[in-house]
Amino acid sequence: MEEIRRAAEIIAKAKHAVVFTGAGISAESGIPTFRGEDGLWKKYDPEEVASIWGFKRNPRAFWEFSMEMKDKLFAEPNPAHYAIAELERMGIVKAVITQNIDMLHQRAGSRRVLELHGSMEKLDCLDCGETYDWGEFLEDFNKGVIPRCRKCNSWYVKPRVVLFGEQLPQRTLLTAMEESRKCDVFIVVGSSLVVYPAAELPYMAKSSGAKMIMVNAEPTVADNIFDVKIYGKAGEILPRIVEEVKRFRQT
Ligand code: NAD
Ligand code: ZN
Repeated sequence: MEEIRRAAEIIAKAKHAVVFTGAGISAESGIPTFRGEDGLWKKYDPEEVASIWGFKRNPRAFWEFSMEMKDKLFAEPNPAHYAIAELERMGIVKAVITQNIDMLHQRAGSRRVLELHGSMEKLDCLDCGETYDWGEFLEDFNKGVIPRCRKCNSWYVKPRVVLFGEQLPQRTLLTAMEESRKCDVFIVVGSSLVVYPAAELPYMAKSSGAKMIMVNAEPTVADNIFDVKIYGKAGEILPRIVEEVKRFRQT
């Protein structure tokens, strides 16, 4: 409780807070994380199923892995996503930098979302260049049918998500770096902070003088750079922080 109050006091005074999220924020929406206790990496080889060379070798393996995460494609935002959107409406949070591809921040009402690893929204045929909306494949995918190009029949229909071995969208990354350097408070939610270059952003914020807050289920490799660390479930902690922020703002 004390830590929640400390975090809220810092956030209530912020003029330009930035939130940085990872798979952990969506865990309570039913989407498995990669790492952590029930992480998918315990079951799958990331080199095989989530790399660009793996996709090109065997798109089916990629889609079967995605089926496992299927719920994410229809998951609902949880109280943590809503709490962050509320902090934006209150004028405190100016940007959400996310590693997630699930679009749940936008669906919870966040307006300025920087998707470092892309999203499932659009897909491209790597053979003929045709583009698709995810919605066009959703119904079939639910029945276990994997996407295939309707124009050229290719199996290489790839969602615009960043796989291992692919570059991050450079403009988004640059904007995220700028935001990290200029913010006065940097809040990490649900990230193991081991995926680079995304994991550099907290260090940039720290070295630019931001106050650092972390909400995560377990300690991370970067714990030493945070002023306030709260270990627990994001969906329970963030709404409590927002309540406290409101209280601080009233007094
Ligand atoms: P990660 O899987 O490496 O780490 C998740 C972290 O969240 C862990 O440290 C875990 O302890 C913590 N966590 C788990 N449940 C939590 C909860 N309820 N509340 C707070 N914290 C919780 O995630 P990452 O750092 O985002 O890196 C994984 C990569 O995988 C990212 O690049 C991301 O693009 C991708 N990914 C995305 C999704 C998604 O879109 N929802 C899901 C899985 C993986
Ligand atoms: Zn095609």
